[in-house]
Amino acid sequence: MHKDNMKLGIYDSVVVGAGISALLTAQRLSLMGRRVVILEGRSRIGGRLVATEQGFDLGAAWCWPSQERILSGLAKDLGIETFPQPADGMAVMEPGGMQFPDEGAAGPGAIRFRGGLGGLTKRLAETLNADLVTIYTDQAVSQVQTNQDSVMVTSTSSSGEMKEWQARTCIITAPPRVAATSINFSPQLNKDQREAMLSISTWMGETTKIVLEYETNWWQKHDALSGAVFSHVGPLSQIWDNSDAEQNLFALAAFSFDKHAQYLRNLNDDELAKVLTKQLGRAFSVSSPPLPIAIHSAHWITEPFTYAKPPSALPDTRNYGHKLLSQPHHEAVFFAGTETEPYHGHVEGALRSALRVTDQVQAFLIKQENASTTCRAATS
Ligand SMILES: Cc1cc2nc3c(=O)[nH]c(=O)nc-3n(C[C@H](O)[C@H](O)[C@H](O)COP(=O)(O)OP(=O)(O)OC[C@H]3O[C@@H](n4cnc5c(N)ncnc54)[C@H](O)[C@@H]3O)c2cc1C
Repeated sequence: MHKDNMKLGIYDSVVVGAGISALLTAQRLSLMGRRVVILEGRSRIGGRLVATEQGFDLGAAWCWPSQERILSGLAKDLGIETFPQPADGMAVMEPGGMQFPDEGAAGPGAIRFRGGLGGLTKRLAETLNADLVTIYTDQAVSQVQTNQDSVMVTSTSSSGEMKEWQARTCIITAPPRVAATSINFSPQLNKDQREAMLSISTWMGETTKIVLEYETNWWQKHDALSGAVFSHVGPLSQIWDNSDAEQNLFALAAFSFDKHAQYLRNLNDDELAKVLTKQLGRAFSVSSPPLPIAIHSAHWITEPFTYAKPPSALPDTRNYGHKLLSQPHHEAVFFAGTETEPYHGHVEGALRSALRVTDQVQAFLIKQENASTTCRAATS
């Protein structure tokens, strides 16, 4: 930290959001000696990476290591083991029940993480240097005001208590449309940057993900099925085996979209178990499939820190990596997060954005420090 700011207690950077992009950014900046505060609106860290206690991911789960080297490298550095997404046996297509060899329901080469990507995120947070990085949850950022030499960020807790945080820079990692609709920027974002942010949808932000736990992997015992289903009937559109690496915990996981997801959101637990069991029985041609011992659901569309409705006046795009989002707002406010990188909305994009924004912020801070040294030299 620059010594003048050390005296004043100003952070080098305030990071909005505690998803994987924010955590890697904080790690990298702290390795450069920078002091960082992370403000997270939810009561937990991880953003779209969250796992159940048993390690079943309710957000992202897969990595394709041949292309996603930063994520696979990070897992290695953190000592997180990986295992291939199970794909032994036949996949099923609905309607009709046609069976075909499962060549990777998640795409060839997909791997998962022991303890889930939710677990990896927690591990990353634990490794942060506590002298330089502080994380506060339940701090929804509502205002980012850029002044001459610093940025003032206002956050509000769920009980309504407001706090102000002063830093030399601010890094927004909230999904762009969420940031543009929930944070008041002063001075305002320029029109083009704001419209770009409003038009970019959050990757998987409308998805429902459901994990069904079982006592056995009954689908494999029947007809050598892999557990993978691709359904045009619904309510689940894609289903796959989500058991753990040791084959101690058995589970199926699934995505549901649009009107099917809306229908599932309105069911109580018993109704949900019945409806999903009916679909699984039909897809796997089993007359009385077992009921799950537990169901875990994440309806991402209902989460305001992930999803914001598209404004009717603008197109709803997946224009990830828009050039205006790699440019700062009023020099000191930077943007990161997977939607700011041209990489499919995956975790790898979030990590790439962290590397990019760290370099941008460090260059800005050094420039500011050099300018203040030159200024002091000129006046002495
Ligand atoms: C169901 C699902 C399945 C997915 N599957 C995969 C997969 O298999 N593989 C893959 O690579 N990717 C997958 N993804 C995408 C992956 O989850 C994201 O790319 C990644 O988690 C994005 O990280 P991020 O840090 O950019 O954003 P986020 O994780 O969204 O983090 C942003 C953070 O900002 C916080 N925030 C928002 N607004 C505010 C505010 N005003 N104040 C304070 N905090 C705020 C949020 O709470 C959140 O913690 C999936 C996503 C979902 C939802």
